[in-house]
Amino acid sequence: MDKFILTALKPAIYQPLHDPLISEKGLEVIVKRLDLLHPDVQGNKFYKLHYNLEAAKKSGLSQVLTFGGAYSNHIHATALAASANGLKAIGVIRGELVTPLNPTLEDARNQGMELYPMSREEYRQKDSATILKSLKDKFGEFYLIPEGGTNALAIKGTQEILEDKDLTMDFVTCPIGTGGTFAGLLASARFKQKLIGFSSLKGDFIISEVDQLLRKYGTQPNCAYEIQTAYHFGGYAKQKPTLISFIQEIKTKANLPLEPVYTGKMVFGLFDLIQKDYFPRGSKILVLHTGGLQGIRGYEQRLGIKF
Ligand SMILES: *Cc1c(COP(=O)(O)O)cnc(C)c1O
Repeated sequence: MDKFILTALKPAIYQPLHDPLISEKGLEVIVKRLDLLHPDVQGNKFYKLHYNLEAAKKSGLSQVLTFGGAYSNHIHATALAASANGLKAIGVIRGELVTPLNPTLEDARNQGMELYPMSREEYRQKDSATILKSLKDKFGEFYLIPEGGTNALAIKGTQEILEDKDLTMDFVTCPIGTGGTFAGLLASARFKQKLIGFSSLKGDFIISEVDQLLRKYGTQPNCAYEIQTAYHFGGYAKQKPTLISFIQEIKTKANLPLEPVYTGKMVFGLFDLIQKDYFPRGSKILVLHTGGLQGIRGYEQRLGIKF
C-alpha cells in the first residue's frame, strides 16, 4: 500500500473483547480495529479504494465518479481518499439533496466532492449505458467506481486485510454489504480457518450474490465459510431498539464503538452465536471492525439518541 498517498496506521490495533459470556464459553475474541487505520478513510473502504485510486491515477483521468445513498460510508471514504490523492470526486447521490447537508455529505462536499442528486427512478438505472452516457456528457471522462465500491480491484485490496498473524485465528467475522470485502477475505484466509459473514441486508439472496462475485472475479475460497442472514434487524440501514441498546452497552462495557448499519449487527450476531454454542471451546475468534463510524452522527441526528 505504499504508493497510496493515504498511509495506514501500522501496526494495526488489536483489542481483546472481554465479557462474562466469552469467558464462560472458553473463547478468545479479538477485534481488529480497521476503523483506526486512517483518521478519515475508515475500515474496509481503505482497502477497497486503494487499487482503484491507483488505477484512476495511472489512467491519467483527473476525476472519479461513484454512487451512494445520503449516509453512505463509501461516498464519504471516496470523497476523502480522492482528495488526498489529488483527484476530483463526483458523488451521484440517490434521491434529493436535503439541506442543510447531513454530516456525511457535508464532509464529502468539504473535501471537494461534487454532489449530484439523482432521482430514485433514474438511480435504479444507474448502471445502464444511457445514464452513464448522460453522466459523461455532463462531467466529462471519469474513472467509474461502482456503488459500494465492489469491483475486481476492490477485491484485490481486501485480500490484504488479513495479515500473517490473523491467519492463526480459528474464526474470522466480517459484516457484509455487497460482499466485496468478504470475497477478498475468502481468497486470503487459510484452509483451516472459518469465515463468518453477517449480512446487513434482509434476505438470503446475498449468499448467491457472493457466489456470483467469486465466479465473476475468479476468486477461489481457501477456507470454510458461512453467511449469517438472521441479524439484519429489518434490513439495510434499519435498526431496532434492541440493536441500539446493544451498541450502547458494548461501548460502555467493552469500550468498543460500533455503528448500527454493519458492525453493530455483526457483533450482536456474534454474541448470539456464542450464546448458542456455535463456537467450540478454546476457539480464537478475530472480529473485523470495518469502520463506518462516521455514519453515527447522522443516526444520532435522525433518531435523537446518543450511541
Ligand atoms: C461498506 C461497509 C461494509 C460492507 O462491505 P462490502 O464489501 O460491501 O460487503 C461493511 N462494514 C462497513 C463499516 C462498511 O462501511
